[in-house]
Amino acid sequence: MALERTFSIIKPDATARNLTGKVNAMIEATGLRIVAQKRIKMTRDQAETFYAVHSARPFFGELVDFMVSGPVVVQVLEGDNAVAKYREVMGATDPSKADAGTIRKEVALSIGENTVHGSDAVETAAIEIAQFFSGNEIVG
Ligand code: GDP
Repeated sequence: MALERTFSIIKPDATARNLTGKVNAMIEATGLRIVAQKRIKMTRDQAETFYAVHSARPFFGELVDFMVSGPVVVQVLEGDNAVAKYREVMGATDPSKADAGTIRKEVALSIGENTVHGSDAVETAAIEIAQFFSGNEIVG
């Protein structure tokens, strides 16, 4: 098994409902460790850069508006196969299609307000982590 790091965001729908701790408990129950974490208000520039890959999609404006609508918690998670393990506990993008026991099934409100982000590959994770954390803010 490969020790990996992945980048996570607890999105505004979860911070608004005071569910940061519930999401963190679900993360920790998988064995993943939260090795960096901070609560921030994303700027529009940060959100547009972060989701630039989706800039041509019809929901891009809605997605950026949502991500800047309230506080988010950005995190680095570490563990064996962290990228795939976190995607598994997050569940499908659309919560109505997510498996029972996943964060999105248990907590998310809709395909847009879907509670969490997790990197889709180790390479993407490294880029996303560098957008929000410096090396000495990550303590494994
Ligand atoms: P993820 O990797 O599971 O987060 O999914 P994607 O990379 O496909 O999409 C990124 C994010 O865009 C999702 O987590 C949603 O917040 C948002 N998103 C995706 N599809 C839609 C949609 O149809 N409508 C809206 N409003 N947001 C969407």
